Amino acid sequence: MSTTEHDLITNFTELTGHAPEGIWSAPGRVNLIGEHTDYNEGFVLPFAIDRRTRAAVGLRADGTIRVTSTFDDTSVQFELAALDAARAAGEITGWSAYPLGVAWALGQHGADLSRVSGVDILIDSTVPVGAGLSSSAAIESSVALALNDLWSLGFTREKLAKVGQLAENEVVGAPTGIMDQSASLLGATDSAVFLDCRSLDAEVVPLGLAKAELSILVMDTRVSHSHATGGYSERRAACEAGAAAMGASSLRDVNVTDLDRAKELLDDVSYRRVRHVVTENQRVLDTVRALNDEGPLAIGALLDASHVSMRDDFEISIPELDLAVETARDNGAIGARMTGGGFGGAAIALVPHALVTTVETAVHAAFAAAGFTAPVTFTVTPSRGAERTSGTATKK
Ligand code: ADP
Ligand code: MG
Repeated sequence: MSTTEHDLITNFTELTGHAPEGIWSAPGRVNLIGEHTDYNEGFVLPFAIDRRTRAAVGLRADGTIRVTSTFDDTSVQFELAALDAARAAGEITGWSAYPLGVAWALGQHGADLSRVSGVDILIDSTVPVGAGLSSSAAIESSVALALNDLWSLGFTREKLAKVGQLAENEVVGAPTGIMDQSASLLGATDSAVFLDCRSLDAEVVPLGLAKAELSILVMDTRVSHSHATGGYSERRAACEAGAAAMGASSLRDVNVTDLDRAKELLDDVSYRRVRHVVTENQRVLDTVRALNDEGPLAIGALLDASHVSMRDDFEISIPELDLAVETARDNGAIGARMTGGGFGGAAIALVPHALVTTVETAVHAAFAAAGFTAPVTFTVTPSRGAERTSGTATKK
């Protein structure tokens, strides 16, 4: 369970013999809409959530980086100047690849790791691992922001998002995009982050959930998904092939008005893969416009349409996700969709505050009746992005 900030400082002090310079915290994220659009250079609309990872960080007199997590209470350490060689030799493994990868990636972006001060980092998190809430980006972003401050690097948050992605791609070895880090670093209270994955331009879009008395309910199916399995890379390949057949460098350049031509050029399966991405990009744009012009009550149909598109065209849903979405809708959600890469993971529903318990109860009952593993349901609140939460008196 979560430790208080005071406990984290106490634990850090016991571990290192001195108080931390500060605590930096960064949230996990949920993607409101825009699925499998990131690697097609399209649009996504994630938001930062009220589950956070905190990194207590203190400076050392030497050039060592030592990382410890309350996750398993183990510590891993390297000389900062030797991180690149350790990475090349495949010596950075397990969870420490996330924080150590960030330090390495800061070096790749220009930090001089042979001159910066060593650090002790103690990580504590309330972001559940593997539930599709990006506990990985939460670690990366908290550590990136901390080191950026303590090493006086002056990198922008956009650059720190790239640092997190580089760590995840090159040190952890996961071929992920930049959405998660952008949401974690750029999120704001009751807002989503509208991200153009081609230009990397990001814009904070107010959600207005509080005023509309709406909650976002996460329904975790507990069916585990893995990027390593074939489905994800198959879909990526289908998108690349579809774009090439259309004479486009990516599906970002294919519009809804091009779909008739796509239907003539492509076989049925390829056409449906392309149609999902093309219509999903449009749905993200429509969602942003609806939020700006009409407020969150107007986006339910777009969430529903996104789910249908993933279920029927992209074929990445599973019966558990479909059941969660349908049951939520039948019990008062104004919109619902699976979220994340698919083949498992969680669905989200936009639910009036007063109906959250009704929807949760109905989803649990429906899963029991279907003989599925009991889901885990909880609400998330769109929240602030990464920030320094303690020790702000320290020089920047
Ligand atoms: P997610 O969807 O939660 O981001 P990932 O597989 O991308 O799933 O990242 C989860 C991994 O991140 C964990 O297996 C672990 O290596 C690391 N991780 C997450 N939270 C922590 C933590 N509190 N302490 C140490 N490592 C963590
Ligand atoms: Mg992750």
